[in-house]
Amino acid sequence: MKDAVFIFSEDQLSYSFSDTHPFNQKRIVLTLDLLKKTGAIQNADIVTPRIATDEELLLAHDPAYIEIVKKAGRGELQENEGILYGIGTEDTPIFPNMHDASAYLVGGTLTAVDEVMEGRAKHALNLGGGLHHGFKGKASGFCVYNDSSVAIEYIRKKYGVRVLYIDTDAHHGDGVQWSFYDEPDICTFSIHETGRYLFPGTGAVTERGNGGGYGTSFNFPIDAFTEDESFLSIYKTAFKEVTEYFKPDVILTQNGADAHYFDPLTHLYGTMNLYREIPRFAKEMADQYCEGRWIAVGGGGYDIWRVVPRAWAHIWFAMKQLPTPIGPLPASWLSKWQEEAPVPFIPTWEDPTPLYEPIPRKAEITEKNAQMLERALHLIRNESKK
Ligand SMILES: [Zn+2]
Repeated sequence: MKDAVFIFSEDQLSYSFSDTHPFNQKRIVLTLDLLKKTGAIQNADIVTPRIATDEELLLAHDPAYIEIVKKAGRGELQENEGILYGIGTEDTPIFPNMHDASAYLVGGTLTAVDEVMEGRAKHALNLGGGLHHGFKGKASGFCVYNDSSVAIEYIRKKYGVRVLYIDTDAHHGDGVQWSFYDEPDICTFSIHETGRYLFPGTGAVTERGNGGGYGTSFNFPIDAFTEDESFLSIYKTAFKEVTEYFKPDVILTQNGADAHYFDPLTHLYGTMNLYREIPRFAKEMADQYCEGRWIAVGGGGYDIWRVVPRAWAHIWFAMKQLPTPIGPLPASWLSKWQEEAPVPFIPTWEDPTPLYEPIPRKAEITEKNAQMLERALHLIRNESKK
């Protein structure tokens, strides 16, 4: 069995709203090239994804919605016909072939699932996935089809096991949460900037699931300006307690890289230390509780030059158990892309220190986050005391 496989094909790049839209899959090319030039990945590590079938998309989406996406991609949608479905909006504009492009991203996550669940690899990475805002019958927040929702339902049906979904994107993983809100055998976990001022507005600690699924939805909304230490402390404590409580068979992580200080869309103050630690801890949990079964997908990340390639490369380093890279990035990578990049690169794996001015409210934010954690976990903490 391989340690890890990297799911990629050029087809994943066809998911492109426009040249000026913040969601830009060039991030994947930049990351893969960085890994190649670091010598961390070989061609034999790369697995070509398949496209998701309609039958598979129907695991998490309404037939009427899929038809609208197909029509939109063929240019056949009447004016405003897609608006009810979130298609043709400012966030999710129509682009040619949007159905196939979106189905490829889902297929990538399904390919990753089969690699892991059929025992060909312990871990699998599909950076093209992570479209966590996609709803059953509606596009939202740059996401058309929700690859994680489809993949989790696919795992449940095909392999009959318990799935823990861990979402560290700066935005709440709403689409995946609502897909499984009533479902006791699927656990969703999202740590994100509080929805008070940030899209999509949901993700309060009180969203704990419904009916039989009550107690299998976990939310950790952290304050704007939260830094690495507090983020990681919440993430690690909660991840471990939820894993011990829920006892998953497989872990799927969504690895949005938009909690970084440079990210233009959010207000968290993460640095590269965060992106080094997140996947290493996920691997530890998967190895300890799930015989290694871990599928990772991408997600948000809107500073595609300075942040995302370095951040996402760390997932691969963790999967392959390679030492943490330190010091300068490969000169050949920097010189290849610098001309195209609108900002000067950070030329090292680490961020410069300090990256930003000290946050005066640091202690207050840390305390507030700690109190939130207590509320978010109080049900399972009480349960374990019984
Ligand atoms: Zn995000």
